[in-house]
Amino acid sequence: MRTVIAGNWKMHKTAHEAMELIDGLRALSAEFPDGVDVLVAPPFTALQAVSQRLNGDERIKLCAQTMHWENQGAYTGEISPVMLKEFGCEYVILGHSERRQFCGETNQYIRLKTRAALAHGITPIIAVGETLEEKDRGLTKDKVVTQTQEALTGLAEEQIRSVILAYEPIWAIGSGKNDDPQNADATMAEIRACLPALREVPILYGGSVKPENMAAYAAMPNINGALVGGASLQAQSFAGIITAAAPAVAR
Ligand code: PEP
Repeated sequence: MRTVIAGNWKMHKTAHEAMELIDGLRALSAEFPDGVDVLVAPPFTALQAVSQRLNGDERIKLCAQTMHWENQGAYTGEISPVMLKEFGCEYVILGHSERRQFCGETNQYIRLKTRAALAHGITPIIAVGETLEEKDRGLTKDKVVTQTQEALTGLAEEQIRSVILAYEPIWAIGSGKNDDPQNADATMAEIRACLPALREVPILYGGSVKPENMAAYAAMPNINGALVGGASLQAQSFAGIITAAAPAVAR
């Protein structure tokens, strides 16, 4: 199973700042453990600059934060998979809770986007997760299993094996309150069990991951890496998370 550490820069970093961060990461990349796939997801406006700055560096892969499902058309403000591929994007985050909350993304949209990503050879990282209220009402499993199944419905097993999932409890995102690694692992085991093909799919944990807590997640049997927001905005802390992910590689 692959181990993946993905940095979601959200709406941070101008193109200039993004290049500085890439330079910082490249300076530390000799320390990245073998077998950890390192991804960065800058804002669209910095993709070209980051792509050029990476200059074919195999240690760091480019990821987008979302995309539309059509190749082109009258979709003001949207970006297509064709446009992402032009800049060498190999991955795209789909269904991040902030897209679901602020941009009205539904499970149906995420299904269309997942199909489009796969059709273009872009690996989708599909994010699922429950709110605090859903957690408190005991609805975590229902929520994340439904989100997962609705994103993947109609896909062949072979296609499902090409995706990456990210379990991100919404209450843990940006809050400093990371989920207990054993709780997260148990939820991720339920996600993995909901479709047979998910046995071979990496599942990332996301929600207040830091260099200090990454090792505890990497030790869990169902956790194959992390989707990282805040701590990916600084080269040293992101590199610390990448290094701490090493124990997951052995699985
Ligand atoms: C995220 O945005 O996906 C995320 C997990 O953010 P943070 O690491 O800041 O909680």
